[in-house]
Amino acid sequence: MLLVLKLSAGEEERAALKARLDATGAVYRVENHGGREVWSLHGSVPPIDECAGLPGVERALLPGDGYLLASRALHPDPTELKLGNTIVGGKMFLLAAGPCAVESKEQMEICAKAAKAAGAAVLRGGSFKPRTSPYSFQGLGAEGLMIHRKAADAHGLLMMSEVLDRQDLPAVGEIADILQVGSRNMQNFPLLKELGKQAKPVLLKRGLAATREEFLLAAEYVLAGGNSRVMLCERGVRSFDPALRHTLDLGSVVLLKQMTHLPVLVDPSHAAGRRELVLPMARAAAAAGADGLMLEIHPDPARALSDGPQALLPRELMALKADLERILPVAGKSLGEES
Ligand code: PEP
Ligand code: MN
Repeated sequence: MLLVLKLSAGEEERAALKARLDATGAVYRVENHGGREVWSLHGSVPPIDECAGLPGVERALLPGDGYLLASRALHPDPTELKLGNTIVGGKMFLLAAGPCAVESKEQMEICAKAAKAAGAAVLRGGSFKPRTSPYSFQGLGAEGLMIHRKAADAHGLLMMSEVLDRQDLPAVGEIADILQVGSRNMQNFPLLKELGKQAKPVLLKRGLAATREEFLLAAEYVLAGGNSRVMLCERGVRSFDPALRHTLDLGSVVLLKQMTHLPVLVDPSHAAGRRELVLPMARAAAAAGADGLMLEIHPDPARALSDGPQALLPRELMALKADLERILPVAGKSLGEES
């Protein structure tokens, strides 16, 4: 159990709390998290209701609820993260677009131009790709990062790239503006701990079979490590129906917005798996209150080296801009562009 102490807790209250815990045989560790004193209890712990009323205690949490730093309990207002000239998590809506994988200079130039024209602030693209098959295209690696950087800079966009492994972190961390953690790595705890030491913002994608608690606890790893710039991304969960690649959990977007102060983005591309489903799902996500969207685009999806079937054409992305301009006011947001 975790006890969050009141900011006003004094020595007398601490001594009384200690005495009560010692009497039950609880073992405890005192740590500072986000400026709050947190006692984590083990062993023979008094019941939660009693703990909540102990001297100096503001809140008692069970381990599963222990996403202290991600939770709204201690941070009631939404976090607004500054990314370049744009802000995510407040009234501005963040659009990130780009190919699944960085393939060539020409491909990235077309994607960057299309992303910018559609109002995106972020150019996505993977250079270290998590592929289901070892025989599939694995990404261009360091060369891809350079191509991506140049295309983003040429169009005044931020660069978001996936970090697949701790060993890639120095290369990606040095070049990219936003570090993406993919679905398959949501519970790669050593990687999350390393990202906690980074100064760059992290986009954490929900694992394809992860509960919301597990998702928030994964974000907690990065936050507890000292990096407060975390965005969440819903990208669909594995369900029983293969007609869709995954099932986009929009209820979760609404719920997450209530549970956490962190910005919540939606990736309808990986959820849908099919181009014709992506735009309606993107519109639904915007209406549901998401803080932004991440979309895959490709100039020639039939020749894409990964995820071609779900990639939008540049002109399809352009059509979304007009839709978002109409939908976003309903959710109290507007398209925030890098200026
Ligand atoms: C991606 O966004 O490139 C990706 C691989 O998605 P996910 O981790 O959600 O499968
Ligand atoms: Mn992809």
